Amino acid sequence: MPKQENGQREDSLIQNDLSESFEEEVIAFLGDEEKLHLFDDLTKVNPVTTRTVLKCLQARYRVNLFYTNAGCSLVALNPFQPFSCLYSPELMREYHVALCPQDLKPHIFAVAEQTYRNVQKQMDPVNQSIIVSGESGAGKTWTSRCLMKFYASVAASVISPKGTKTVERIERRVLDSNPVMEAFGNACTLRNNNSSRFGKYIQLQLDRFHHLTGASIQTFLLEKTRVTYQAPNERNFHIFYQITKGASAEERLEWNLPEGAEYRWLPNSESDLDEDCFEVTRGAMFHLGISRATQSNIFKVLSGLLHLGNVQFSNPVDESQPCELEDKTKEFVKTTGDLLQIPIEELLESLRIRTITAGKQQQVFKKPCSRAECETRRDCLAKVIYARLFEWLVLVINENIYTDPSIWTSFIGLLDVYGFEAFPENNLEQLCINYANEKLQQHFVAHYLKAQQEEYVAEGLQWSFINYKDNQNCLDLIEGNPLSIFSLLNEECRLNRPSNTDLFQTRIEKALSSNQCLSRDKFSKKPNFIISHYAGKVCYHLAAMVEKNKDAVPPELVHVLQNSKDPLLQKLFPVTEKNQNNTKTQNRAAVVTVVSKFKSSLEHLMEILSRTTPHYIRCIKPNADCKAMTFRREEVLSQLQACGIVEAISISAAGFPVRIPFQSFTERYELLRKSWGSSKKRVWDKSNFHPAEKKGEIPVMDDDKAPRAAVLEILQDAVREQTPA
Ligand code: ATP
Ligand code: MG
Repeated sequence: MPKQENGQREDSLIQNDLSESFEEEVIAFLGDEEKLHLFDDLTKVNPVTTRTVLKCLQARYRVNLFYTNAGCSLVALNPFQPFSCLYSPELMREYHVALCPQDLKPHIFAVAEQTYRNVQKQMDPVNQSIIVSGESGAGKTWTSRCLMKFYASVAASVISPKGTKTVERIERRVLDSNPVMEAFGNACTLRNNNSSRFGKYIQLQLDRFHHLTGASIQTFLLEKTRVTYQAPNERNFHIFYQITKGASAEERLEWNLPEGAEYRWLPNSESDLDEDCFEVTRGAMFHLGISRATQSNIFKVLSGLLHLGNVQFSNPVDESQPCELEDKTKEFVKTTGDLLQIPIEELLESLRIRTITAGKQQQVFKKPCSRAECETRRDCLAKVIYARLFEWLVLVINENIYTDPSIWTSFIGLLDVYGFEAFPENNLEQLCINYANEKLQQHFVAHYLKAQQEEYVAEGLQWSFINYKDNQNCLDLIEGNPLSIFSLLNEECRLNRPSNTDLFQTRIEKALSSNQCLSRDKFSKKPNFIISHYAGKVCYHLAAMVEKNKDAVPPELVHVLQNSKDPLLQKLFPVTEKNQNNTKTQNRAAVVTVVSKFKSSLEHLMEILSRTTPHYIRCIKPNADCKAMTFRREEVLSQLQACGIVEAISISAAGFPVRIPFQSFTERYELLRKSWGSSKKRVWDKSNFHPAEKKGEIPVMDDDKAPRAAVLEILQDAVREQTPA
C-alpha cells in the first residue's frame, strides 16, 4: 500500500461529488473493488477522504459487515434488520476470552471488552466511558442495550462475595431498567419507531473483582411536550399505548379505560408496534422494586392524563365568567378528578381561574382565564405530572440498582444522547439538544484530535498539523459569559416582561454580532436566529422560546396537585413547609430556567467524562426510511462529515493508531530485547522515554508506516537482526 504523507490529504477529493467519476476515482486509489470490504480499519485506507471512507463502508455494508474501526472510534452502520448471530452469547464469549479482542473483527463487543480490560489493568484513568452518538434512528439505544447485555454477561460472577443470587438479581435489574425507561421515555417519531426522547448516561459499577455490582442512571431533558402535542404521524410515549392496549377488563374498569375509547393525546394508536408490550414493562417494573399496587397507581394517574387531554373549553358569553365546558367535557373533567383524586371543583378552578395577589395589603383577586390560557394550563398540568413521574421513576430505579460506593471501585459509563437535530422549525428543545452535541464534539476534539497532535509535537515527532473544526466559537455563542444566547434568554425570563420576539431578535443580533457562528434567515417573516453548528446550520424560531425557557407552572396547579388524595401524586408533589406558607416566595426561588438546568447537568456530565478514558461509537443511519440493508451514499456522507470522523481517521492514519501500555510492550517484545546490543539497553530505561511513554504508554506503528520514535527504530533493528538473511 502506498505511503501517505503526513497531513497532505488530497483536499480535492473531499467534496460531496458522488457522481459516476467518483467510483472510478476511488477504485483508482484503493484498488480492487472486490477487496474493499477488507478494510476493517479505516486508518488503513489510503488516501483518507470522505469518499474513500464512504466507499469502503458501503462495500462492507453489502457483505453484512456493519462495524469498522476508525482510529479511536468504531463506526456502526445500522442494518435495520436483526442479525441475532451478531449479538449472541457465544460471540460475547469469543470477544471476552480472545487474547487480543482488537484482532477479531471490529465489533461493539471488542470496544466493550477493551474497556473492561482497561478497568482490570487499572488504566489511568481507570474509569471508562463509551460515548455512543449518531442521529435519530442510527442505533444508539440498540448499541447501548447490547453493551449492557455484554457487561451483564461477562462481568457476572459465579462466586461473588455477596453470593450468586444477589449478583444475578443485580444484573437482571440493571437490564430491566431498559424496557421501563423506554416505555416511559421513548416514542414513535417520523425518524424512528422507538425514538428516545431523553438523554441517558448509565454508570455500570464494578467491584474490586470487576463484577457488576450495580448501576446508576442520569437522564437529561425529557421531551415532556410530547404528552400534550404529537407532530402529525408521530405518537405519544409508548406507555400510554401499552396501558390502553394491554389493560385487563378489571383494570379497564378501575382506570376508566373503556375499550375503543378515543383520546386526543393518543394519535395513531392503530399501528401495532413491538414496543406496545405492557407485560414486559410491568415485569421489569416489578423486578425493579415497583410493586403491583404502585404500578396500578401509576397507570391510573396516566389514564387520568388521557382523560384530561379530552377536556376542551369554549369562550363564555359573558367575558367576566370562566370558560365554559361542553357536556361531554364535563364527563372528562369528572373522570380526571376521580382518577387523580382531586375534587372536581378545585380542578376546574385551577384550570380556569387565575389568582392575583396585589397591593400593599396583598389582596387576592380572581380572574377568569381566556380559552387559550385554560388550554395552556390543562397542558401544563399534564406535562408537570408526567415529568415528575419520570423523574421519580428514575429515582426509584436508581435506588434499586445503585450500590454503596464502598462496594464498587470503578465504573464503565455508557452515554446515549439524542443526536444533532435540524427540523424545518426548531426551538428551545433543538437548541438544547444541539448544544449537548456541540459539547460532546468538543470533548472528542479536545480528547482526541487536539491532545493527540499536541502529544506528537511534545514527543518531537515530525508532524504537520491536520486542521480540524474547533467549535469553541459556537459554544461561546450558545453558553458563553457574559453574553450568549443562553444568558440573553435567561435575562428575558428574569425581567419577566411580555415577550416581544422582534425586539428580542434585535437584542441578540446586537449583543452577539461579533460571533461569526450567528446569522439570521432574512427571508423568514418569523423572528429567528441561525447558528452555524459543527454539523451544519440550524435556524431557531424565537416564538415561545422565552416561555419555554421559563417553564413556569401556575401556582394554582401545584396547589391542587399538592392537595390530591392520590398517594402517588402526594409523593410527586410533596407539601413542604416553605411552599405551604408562602407560595410566592417559593415561586420566585424556583425560577431555574430550562437552559440553566440543562447546562449544569451537562457540565456535571462533562466533568465525569473528562475523568474517564473515553471510547467512541459513531452510529450511522444508512437511509432515512429505516429500510433494511439500504445504503444511501448522500445520507451517510452527511453524517460522516457532521461528526468529523474523517479528520479523526486522518490523524490516526498519519500517526500511531495503536498504543500499548509499557508493561505489555516489554512483555510482548521481551524476546527481542535479549538479542539487542548493549548500546540499545538504555531504551528500556524508563527515564529515557518520551512523555507518552513515561505515562505508561508506548506508541507502536502499523507494519507499513515509518517509525518516528527512537524506540521504534530500535525495535525494527531488532526485527532485522532476528530475521534470517
Ligand atoms: P433516537 O435518537 O431516535 O433514540 P437511536 O439512535 O437510539 O435513535 P435506535 O432506537 O437504537 O436508534 O435504533 C433504531 C432502530 O434501528 C431500532 O429500533 C432497530 O430496529 C434498528 N437497529 C439499530 N441498530 C441495529 C442493529 N445493530 N441491528 C439491527 N437493527 C438495528
Ligand atoms: Mg435512542
